[in-house]
Amino acid sequence: MNSLVDLHLHSTASDGVFPPAEVVRKAAARKLRYMALTDHDSVDGIAEALAEGEKHPCLTVIPGVEISTDIAAGDVHILGYFINWQDATLKRQLAGMRDSREERGLAMVEKLAELGMPLEWSRIKEIAGDAVIGRPHIAQAMVEKGYISYIGEAFEKYISRDGPAYAERIKLDPAGAVALIKAAGGLAVMAHPLTLPNAEEMIKELAAAGLTGIEVYYASYREYEIERLKRWAEKYGLVATGGTDYHGLDPATETMIGGQHVPLSAVEGLLARLPGAKT
Ligand SMILES: [Zn+2]
Ligand SMILES: [Zn+2]
Repeated sequence: MNSLVDLHLHSTASDGVFPPAEVVRKAAARKLRYMALTDHDSVDGIAEALAEGEKHPCLTVIPGVEISTDIAAGDVHILGYFINWQDATLKRQLAGMRDSREERGLAMVEKLAELGMPLEWSRIKEIAGDAVIGRPHIAQAMVEKGYISYIGEAFEKYISRDGPAYAERIKLDPAGAVALIKAAGGLAVMAHPLTLPNAEEMIKELAAAGLTGIEVYYASYREYEIERLKRWAEKYGLVATGGTDYHGLDPATETMIGGQHVPLSAVEGLLARLPGAKT
């Protein structure tokens, strides 16, 4: 059976395939009661999603975002729900993060050129397509030029943190993302916590920094992983949320909208923690 709740969905406002309105129509067609649009570092799809949501009275569209942060141990994504998506500070910060990624890409390409490996920026943009330019795109361009023989080699020799062509970008740390979401009136939830080797440590740290929930019911998680996350949510007083992380990719391999069971208590838990909610 389809879930009534899906709190993790992407659209063309970041790296999803379908426009925001289409994502909402799909959610309505699958009889969801609550959905959240959570594009990477962008709130550009929210207005369209909310407008489409008006046409489907049985479905509530929650304005959201998924903020990328990184720490030495890996990527940490922080979801924001019920954010004031028109908040100027939030918008400015998100735009700054996108620009800084492009600047960082350019800086790495310059360093590679100094090392005798010139690359064409236009080709890297082509490889990245609609996505924000990242290190894997640069690595692929290096493979194409024959500077290296496989993508991983770029990281091993040049563009990992200690590599000679590495460039830093302005980035938010996870606690900074939590603070940004809260400042925009929203609730912060740690996405797919198990991408981090020592997830519990981070959950504990972020709970102290004002985190509201963690993603427990995540499409690719197995039953025992969901159970472990549920225990952590309880231990640290966090709401257990979830979703599919749907991008509209290959329907043969991707979990469809609403294809992951997420209990209604996820939404109820969030609503109860909204600033100004009656307890
Ligand atoms: Zn993510
Ligand atoms: Zn996602």
